[in-house]
Amino acid sequence: KDPILSVKNLRVSFHTYAGEVQAVRGMDFDLREGETLAIVGESGSGKSVTTRAVMGLIPKPPGEIKDGEILYKGKNIINYKEKEMQKLRGKEISMIFQDPMSALNPTMKVGAQIVEGLKKHQKLTSSQAKERAIELLRLVGIPYPEKRIDQFPHQFSGGMRQRVVIAIALACDPKVLIADEPTTALDVTIQAQILELMNDLKEKLGTAIVLITHDLGVVANMADRVIVMYGGQVAETGTVDEIFYQPKHPYTWGLLSSMPNPNMKEEVLQAIPGSPPDLSDPPVGCPFAARCPYAMKVCVDHNPALEPISETQKAACWLNDERSPKVEPPERVLA
Ligand code: SF4
Ligand code: MG
Repeated sequence: KDPILSVKNLRVSFHTYAGEVQAVRGMDFDLREGETLAIVGESGSGKSVTTRAVMGLIPKPPGEIKDGEILYKGKNIINYKEKEMQKLRGKEISMIFQDPMSALNPTMKVGAQIVEGLKKHQKLTSSQAKERAIELLRLVGIPYPEKRIDQFPHQFSGGMRQRVVIAIALACDPKVLIADEPTTALDVTIQAQILELMNDLKEKLGTAIVLITHDLGVVANMADRVIVMYGGQVAETGTVDEIFYQPKHPYTWGLLSSMPNPNMKEEVLQAIPGSPPDLSDPPVGCPFAARCPYAMKVCVDHNPALEPISETQKAACWLNDERSPKVEPPERVLA
């Protein structure tokens, strides 16, 4: 099946006083209909910049798309003007962010905000739009939607607000939903409810989801496939099982070691020491070399290409080269 969204060799820079920051340095991925693809990595790894580029939301300047293609249903949208993007945004590709309050207009009733989105893309009478708004609130699990549409965002709890944001994002039946840390601002029980809702809606509506998160627990519960980003590049990608049970990149090992393990009583979280590379002057070699316990000379001199491990898994690490010494991931990783 053809992917609904393909990103090819995407390069995005930001021009700052410190020079050109190469935020995304050659990113590739495919998203297929109805699947959930998680993008994980530390802040500054290029996750959000990648998805903002897909939405046409890179401010230019200071941002600049240096290279690449973004194919939506086979059509390259990377150079779309704002006007053309507006036709796609909300209707074909929707996005939800971390903070539901910033996505909502505090002075406008919730129903009116949903209707506004609907009317942008669909010809509906006012009463049809209102009906649909009520239906959407019900779909995202908001009780008494007939009453709630006449309330303002501040009358909703954080979790309920994020449900409203999801209702708005899904109002026009987009094929792709990009969710950038959608639950980070919420407390843990509400987080779980919102993620469950997203999973339900994916099943019901067949929407493909790109989920940005730094939480591998969320990935395990939600994703079909995973991209691990580091230093503006893909470190590793694979099915959720491949990433959790046969990871092939030391950065992925580090992420897995720092994940809370419910089976262990006394938790020893191993955060990865060191800090991410300076992308205004990116290393010529592997971007992870400065923090990698397995770094070899070749790592410092040459950036490893993203090479196939299986039909579905790829990793960018010299350890997977047949000439390298054989290294097993630390035990903690697969515990
Ligand atoms: Fe570590 Fe070298 Fe692999 Fe980079 S290429 S992750 S430095 S072993
Ligand atoms: Mg981000």
